[in-house]
Amino acid sequence: MFDTVLVANRGEIAVRVISTLRKMGIRSLAVYSDEDEGARHVREADLAIRLGPSTARESYLNIDRVLEAATRCAAQAVHPGYGFLSENADFVRACESAGVVFIGPSVESVQMMGDKIRAKAAVANAGVRVVPGRAQAGMDDDELRQVAQEIGYPVLVKPSAGGGGKGMRLVHSPEALADAVVSARRESAASFGDDTLFIERYIEDPRHLEVQILVDNFSHGVHLGERECSLQRRHQKVIEEAPSPLLSDQSRRDLTSAALRVGEVARYRGVGTVEFIVSSRRPDEFFFMEMNTRLQVEHPVTEMVTGLDLVEQQLRVAAGEELSFSQDDVRLRGHAIEARIYAEDPSRDFLPTGGELLFLREPLAEGVRVDSSLLARGHVGTTYDPMLAKVIAHGADRNQALDRLDQALGELVTFGVVTNTSFLRALLANADVRAGALDTNLIARFLEQGTDTRTDEDLVECAGAFAVAHLLDRQRCSSGPSRFDVLDGWRLGEHASTHFDVQTSLAGPITLDIEGTWRELRLTMGEAAPALNVRCLESRPVARNVQELVLSVSGRTFIVLVTIEGALTWIAHRGSTSWWRVTPPRRSDETSVVHDGDLRSPMPGVVIHVGAKPGDAVSLGDALLVVEAMKMEYPLRAPLAGEVAELLVRVGDQVALDQVVARVRSLVIDESDPSISTGDRSSA
Ligand code: ADP
Ligand code: ADP
Ligand code: MG
Repeated sequence: MFDTVLVANRGEIAVRVISTLRKMGIRSLAVYSDEDEGARHVREADLAIRLGPSTARESYLNIDRVLEAATRCAAQAVHPGYGFLSENADFVRACESAGVVFIGPSVESVQMMGDKIRAKAAVANAGVRVVPGRAQAGMDDDELRQVAQEIGYPVLVKPSAGGGGKGMRLVHSPEALADAVVSARRESAASFGDDTLFIERYIEDPRHLEVQILVDNFSHGVHLGERECSLQRRHQKVIEEAPSPLLSDQSRRDLTSAALRVGEVARYRGVGTVEFIVSSRRPDEFFFMEMNTRLQVEHPVTEMVTGLDLVEQQLRVAAGEELSFSQDDVRLRGHAIEARIYAEDPSRDFLPTGGELLFLREPLAEGVRVDSSLLARGHVGTTYDPMLAKVIAHGADRNQALDRLDQALGELVTFGVVTNTSFLRALLANADVRAGALDTNLIARFLEQGTDTRTDEDLVECAGAFAVAHLLDRQRCSSGPSRFDVLDGWRLGEHASTHFDVQTSLAGPITLDIEGTWRELRLTMGEAAPALNVRCLESRPVARNVQELVLSVSGRTFIVLVTIEGALTWIAHRGSTSWWRVTPPRRSDETSVVHDGDLRSPMPGVVIHVGAKPGDAVSLGDALLVVEAMKMEYPLRAPLAGEVAELLVRVGDQVALDQVVARVRSLVIDESDPSISTGDRSSA
């Protein structure tokens, strides 16, 4: 076995690989970019070497730097994790030349499966059904149109070099094909440096099934069962489980043996995943989609049902060991479900968030595993993938696994960074999800219906916590200048009334009228809702500036965690719903001071283009600048027609969430046209 292994990755997967290295008594070598200097994978590894600046190209994708680090610390092998260099044939070759073992398959396997056109041809040749279509390189737009006609609409246009769901276009009619091809080529060239496209029939009501295989160097191969990953948003997996609720024993046998055949075609070695698509209408008719020649994000669900450590298996195969068990020894036990925690805001169309973690609490319970790279009081940036952590739950059956996962997500608290946790919990409560009636469009339909499942009771509890927290904070700050000077009207110990406009992260605004002291108060919400008596039974600090409150509302007791930091109040509600982010109360006379012309960045990121200068005349909706985060470009548009008054950022500047980046003032106000909003008239 190796003495030292370099982990060529970051985030949760680097932390996870390091933990197996530690368990096996192997020295771990982390690598990092400037942004990740204090990151958890760096802290947990035995050794760490800086690769370079924060951009992935100069750090985690820099083959020379990674191999220099391996040589310097005498690492005999490199674990690539997923993403970054994991499916890069040049990297596999470079490892070979440098005499370092690449923990994964051969260059040939990586190349064959990395080119989806070649992969489909080879797999079809071996008698495994592939999605009907034409997988052929170099088709021009006319040929693509002809092929689409042959297959029949709807069709899916795909990049041959694709990954991460990027560059795919669903096309419903011949008229829409030309535009789809142009944009798919552009996105594919930008993401993969290759604009080769192919075309497939779109499988209706699709479900994503995949099979984990494991093969050693002696042609002993086993499958470790299937996973279902049909809960996807924009072709990216969100929730994954093992086994699939769809399969009968017979279709499971067919699917897993097809996967092993694909492994043979690829002359595969190590841990790999064969992905299939199947229509809910024909569950027994599955089609090969692609093979991922690496460890997959969702591998923990397989680990939980098999009891195997897949990273350990990867290391053993890479070190030349023979598999120590056969197919008959593989037993699948119970059910496991994983949820991916992303730094994104469901209430803002899933835009990336980020920020400083103020308080972190990860769930700890029977049957629950958390793979995470989060550090209490760490920074969550937007340079890399927005996935922060995974919560995985195992149960005797699917229902128990679902319940445990939901409960675990309710225990996850990440004050300071908005995540998709509340969305995940709402999704897990969906009737079709509970019933296992999944398909890859379920999330889109679910989002159309609106995902807020919180009840009035939840709202009341949140409001009560909010009010008590502010009273407490007021008390704490009463000796010095309060950060909440805007809260005119608080008189501790006296009866005074204060009016709050509270904006929560998912629900609309609530208005509170609060009267009382911090132990006992009267709460009036909105106009129609009846007044409520809130009693604070207990409050104790659990971390710097974080209070745990036991509250009673109309005789019902509940526990929340609250912190007030800067302009925001964060509330985590233990048990039922997940946390809420609450914006600060506004002084009533401030309500009218809305800077209509302020252009704010809806996400943290980097300014990559500025297309206007002060004095320019602009129309409503003109793109003034472009902010980029997570490889996503986001144009910021003029909030009103007029003239650019100020530009507050330049290309290359980092901007924070909600930062004002430009101001537009309206010049001519046509009183007769109600569609023109008035800006800051006084300065015009
Ligand atoms: P997997 O197939 O391993 O479950 P995905 O299909 O979600 O994972 O992602 C495929 C690869 O693309 C992974 O290696 C992941 O690191 C990478 N990836 C996923 N989402 C993004 C993203 N938003 N930006 C960059 N890379 C991503
Ligand atoms: P990537 O390399 O980006 O992971 P895949 O070929 O695995 O690309 O496809 C990603 C996702 O797109 C699949 O999980 C599935 O949800 C959807 N998809 C791919 N091919 C088809 C198809 N022919 N019909 C319907 N959905 C598809
Ligand atoms: Mg895929």
